Amino acid sequence: MSELIAGVTQSLDQGEWTRRYTGALMNTFGPPQRVLVRGEGCYVWDADGNRYLDLLAGIAVNSLGHAHPTLTGAISAQLGTLGHVSNFFASPVQITLAERLTELTCAGPRPEAARVFLTNSGTEAMEAAVKLARRHGGADRPRILALEGAFHGRSMGALALTHKPAYREPFEPLPGGVEHLPFGDLRALEEAFAAPGQVAALVLEPIQGEAGVRPLPAGYLAAARELTTAHGALLILDEVQTGMGRTGTWMAHHHPQVGGGIVPDAVAVAKGLGGGFPVGALITLTEAAATLFQPGQHGTTFGGNPVAAAAALATIHVIERDDLLTQVTSTGEHLRTAVAGSDHPLVAGVRGAGLLIAVELAEPVAAAAAQAALRAGFIVNPVAPDALRLAPPYVLTTEQADSFVAALPQILNEARQ
Ligand SMILES: *Cc1c(COP(=O)(O)O)cnc(C)c1O
Repeated sequence: MSELIAGVTQSLDQGEWTRRYTGALMNTFGPPQRVLVRGEGCYVWDADGNRYLDLLAGIAVNSLGHAHPTLTGAISAQLGTLGHVSNFFASPVQITLAERLTELTCAGPRPEAARVFLTNSGTEAMEAAVKLARRHGGADRPRILALEGAFHGRSMGALALTHKPAYREPFEPLPGGVEHLPFGDLRALEEAFAAPGQVAALVLEPIQGEAGVRPLPAGYLAAARELTTAHGALLILDEVQTGMGRTGTWMAHHHPQVGGGIVPDAVAVAKGLGGGFPVGALITLTEAAATLFQPGQHGTTFGGNPVAAAAALATIHVIERDDLLTQVTSTGEHLRTAVAGSDHPLVAGVRGAGLLIAVELAEPVAAAAAQAALRAGFIVNPVAPDALRLAPPYVLTTEQADSFVAALPQILNEARQ
């Protein structure tokens, strides 16, 4: 660690840091639960020296865990060689990443037409997707369909697709044309396409993350593909949370129980892509989608910068080299089976795929359970009043998973008090 960073990090306890936090940062997130100073593998440490097993991974971001040597090595090497160039120029890592992303997004051979737009976040990838939908639809096709419960980001375009009223209402009016359909309701989807006015795009999360790890019902994505194709609309998948191996396949829509091999027009990824470094991408797979942006119509200063590209390439490399997709599948199955097997009365079930998991609770005590988990040394997220989200690093071991399962009954007992 550099002396500068060490100097900032040492010395204060959590109470003092929290006081300084509230005096310096806008109150968009509420007070922090802990102030963290260090991470290694699946563990993080707070300013008082307490250790936590990180079962949230920065909200499905730190796929390789914390301070992975291959990732930090690639980032440092790239930053020490060439850090930023603007999009007037290109870099080998950026080009290689774009090629790799098109390969990984197609379960089969890479279509010639596939193209990538690189961003710094999931929101920006989805903002690009909204603009892509507008380019496709033009003025005569303003309708964009999304689902109730959807979360697609907080910029005005992405927010227009996001469903939660508490996120939208303070910022209205939002860009128009978006309709939210009942979640997983095939009939409603068919009716939306039969209604007057052409649809420019249908935007879906294969598993809704922020709404509580809610998988779309079997067959829904296939039907969505058929309807969009028949009506000349784009099918855009938001895999910001579910993509890049989180469900045990590169994309959730590759997962046999989720997408079953459909080919969308465009896919947005971000969270896990850079293993903790901010980077996102909109990947178009069809000719129709890949050629919609003309030079000058969309852009970014930082998007595609060499450091972010190196981080993403390193993350992909480690996932392949260490066969982490297999580990995600097996550890995820182990964890879900173990939690589902708990005879604690508050455990109502589990849902999700791979290492994107919700522990379903029989009572709305998720917030209290997450607090109790933290006190017991585990980071989980109360994604819904009655659900705990687990999205741990792909490198989580079964022993680490078991330590949480063993602690869960006591955590839930405390949550009930
Ligand atoms: C997190 C998330 C986003 C927004 O990504 P940011 O990187 O926070 O901008 C968009 N869509 C989904 C499905 C997400 O989970």
